[in-house]
Amino acid sequence: MKNKRIIVISILILELLLLSLFIFLKKQSNYNGKYIKELSENDKIAKKLLKEIKDFNEKYNGKGGFSLDKNLKIVIYKIKPGDNLWNISKKTGLSIDTLLTLNNLDNVHIISTGTEIRIPNKDGIFYKVSPGETIEDIAKKFNVKPEDIINVNEFSDESIEEGIDIFIPKGKLPLEERLNYLGRFITPLIGRITSGFGFRKNPITKKKEFHTGIDIAQYYGAPVKASESGEVIFAGEYKGYGNLIILRHNNGYSTRYGHLSKIIVKYGEKVRQGEVIGYVGNSGSVTGPHLHFEIRRYGKAINPYFNMRWAQK
Ligand SMILES: [Zn+2]
Repeated sequence: MKNKRIIVISILILELLLLSLFIFLKKQSNYNGKYIKELSENDKIAKKLLKEIKDFNEKYNGKGGFSLDKNLKIVIYKIKPGDNLWNISKKTGLSIDTLLTLNNLDNVHIISTGTEIRIPNKDGIFYKVSPGETIEDIAKKFNVKPEDIINVNEFSDESIEEGIDIFIPKGKLPLEERLNYLGRFITPLIGRITSGFGFRKNPITKKKEFHTGIDIAQYYGAPVKASESGEVIFAGEYKGYGNLIILRHNNGYSTRYGHLSKIIVKYGEKVRQGEVIGYVGNSGSVTGPHLHFEIRRYGKAINPYFNMRWAQK
């Protein structure tokens, strides 16, 4: 009789323990199979999922056997010294397109330690739905089955809202778009950056102003190359820019090259990326020979430092 009571009590205690363990685990895994935010790589769940991703990719990568019965899961990974998108792509077996579209990075070439990036358990791309677009359209665009998109995103039917980010399993970026992410531009000149993009005190007027480009110092007469292929839409003197070249590129982009000593291209001319278009000088408002370089999109200046490759052709 006494033994029986002990057994009953033990079972009750065991059940209570199991229940609390269940509640604890449930609380730990409140990612609902989708976005796991604020998890570091040391987090138990993140560790488990990273292993899952690894196993998953080892199992399916290159064999075309992506299983869609598994939910899309995303872990947060903190960048460690020596990490870059390319070695993470290699380690996880995920394409660079997957990492590029899931992470809105300022500079894909240099990611500072501690930056949190998102790593999914599946290869594919994240895509923003345009107004009026259907799953059917998107499936056709990326050459995948509509049901694969529906399943992986856990949609209940084929209707989708515009502007939402959806996952396209096995989707690949068109080359043009990949270049937009990777920085389609190359540096027009290798040299010391003497002034960055953004607010600064003007070196001549000493007034606070917005510097719409970067200044790269080089010797007078150093060759300046076209940062990207395009068409010359301005070649001549222009206000504080001195001798200026403006090139127009695809997708609303343009680049500006100021303070040149000599311009060797003409209005309307087509130039190729890496072609010499002029020479470093000190024309316009300057304190010494340098190139003032700008990248603009739809007329608005963007930071060249984050939008170009520091390499030349
Ligand atoms: Zn400048």
